[in-house]
Amino acid sequence: MPSIRHSDVELRCICCGDPFVYSAGEQELFALRGLLREPHECPTCRKLLGHRWN
Ligand SMILES: [Zn+2]
Repeated sequence: MPSIRHSDVELRCICCGDPFVYSAGEQELFALRGLLREPHECPTCRKLLGHRWN
């Protein structure tokens, strides 16, 4: 299994426009779940929107 080295990236939320950090740990978690795209909302907006990430 190839190991991908993730690093923290800063993204901008499309919902509130605030920058947020998409951490290496989150990227690994997303990859494990088969989610390869970057999140478009900050964690706060994700919660408000009621997204389920599983
Ligand atoms: Zn937001």
